[in-house]
Amino acid sequence: MKHIDIKKVLFDSDMVGTSVVVCGWVRTFRDSAQVSFLELSDGTSFEKLQVVIDKSALSVDPECTKLGASVVARGKVVKAYKGEGHELEAEAIAILGKCPPEYPIQKKRTTLEFLRGIPHLRLRTNTFQAVFRVRSVAAQAIHRYFHEHGYYYINAPLITASDCEGAGEMFRVTTHPWNAKYATEEEYCKNDFFGVKAGLSVSGQLEGEVAATALGKIYTFGPSFRAENSNTTRHLAEFWHIEPEIAFAELPDVIEIAEDLLKYLVRTVLEECAAEIKFFDSFVEKGLIEKLSHVAASDFAVCTYTEAIAILEKENANFHFPVHWGSDLQSEHEKYLTEQVFRRPVFVTDYPKEIKAFYMKQNPDGKTVAATDLLVPGIGEIIGGSEREADYDKLVAAMRERGMDTSAYRQYLDLRLFGSVPHGGFGLGFERFVMYCTGMENIRDVTLFPRASKTIL
Ligand code: ATP
Ligand code: MN
Repeated sequence: MKHIDIKKVLFDSDMVGTSVVVCGWVRTFRDSAQVSFLELSDGTSFEKLQVVIDKSALSVDPECTKLGASVVARGKVVKAYKGEGHELEAEAIAILGKCPPEYPIQKKRTTLEFLRGIPHLRLRTNTFQAVFRVRSVAAQAIHRYFHEHGYYYINAPLITASDCEGAGEMFRVTTHPWNAKYATEEEYCKNDFFGVKAGLSVSGQLEGEVAATALGKIYTFGPSFRAENSNTTRHLAEFWHIEPEIAFAELPDVIEIAEDLLKYLVRTVLEECAAEIKFFDSFVEKGLIEKLSHVAASDFAVCTYTEAIAILEKENANFHFPVHWGSDLQSEHEKYLTEQVFRRPVFVTDYPKEIKAFYMKQNPDGKTVAATDLLVPGIGEIIGGSEREADYDKLVAAMRERGMDTSAYRQYLDLRLFGSVPHGGFGLGFERFVMYCTGMENIRDVTLFPRASKTIL
């Protein structure tokens, strides 16, 4: 159907005085003695197009005035009577798809919880349209950032046989029918599709290292899968993961890149999604614009895990889980550090080796590794990264300490045998970034069809 995007009709000054055809869904209808007003949205802009109907000149099919109905309208573009932009003086309106009164998206504000129950329709609301516009702009910006900085875009496999870090969290991939009976797990896997135990990847990092130690700078941007049983507002079973990996990078380089990327993304969202961010600032998180502008303009804090523990220990009485040197930081501790102590994003570095992955570079103190998590207010961890252990013997020792089977990591170890280089990278959770930019508090509300434990909508 020949028609013009509402965004163009609304804001392109060349449109004034022309006759156009637009399509969209009815968002509001107001009626008065001489004129009535239809507001249409076609998804192309946050603002709606007001269609003005002169009742003496045009009689409109009542179906076209129902909330949620889809219509096609022809008319003349004129300057808006009030405010900026344009409106449409209707010459003809026809129904495309009727919408009965059972339509669950009604004008009064509904709860996010209610909308979670209708994931196929919630995108018709302002909130979700805004979320998904921000999400799209952020995704484009991620590719643009890396492309402009000379990174190659790599697609790591989603089906993997290595169950490295995420052993307990890995979803199995199998074609066995439910009643298959085998004496041992080995026999079971041998007869399975791949002939070995396979699962969905929890991270593309190990493959990313393969690419980075040849191409220099790479990134992946794809889904990761984790069978997390923790039913939190920050975890999904399927989430999108941005994982740059950089040859010749040490921990301070990794931190610098992560900060630069995050600031670039925040700036881009502020510029390209101004209307959406203004909406979130008004209705979702008061002060959001100020928060994001501040983040884009000021330096992030950096502190070591050891310093963080010293700060947190003073507050132990107020924590659900008191901390001591060696404990993993829980969400309450992460939030306390970034929200109360630093009041801005903070990189925590050099964690005890026992609570981090085997591949992280061992520091000379023999106790910590060159890891970093970036914590942000409202969310906690948004990025996890590290310099990788580049020394063959140290890596093998770390794997043995953890009881890992080194033969399953032959290729990974080879990278340390043949021209090993210092390198590092990080993982940014895409949904967590979108939450951060929009102020949405539940990860399920920034994902089209969220997958979590006991949730597959
Ligand atoms: P957390 O401690 O919050 O569970 P993690 O330490 O397990 O995260 P990493 O393995 O460091 O996470 O993954 C890198 C990034 O991916 C995290 O900083 C986070 O932004 C994101 N992420 C990790 N797990 C999930 C998940 N289940 N759902 C959504 N995002 C996730
Ligand atoms: Mn982490």
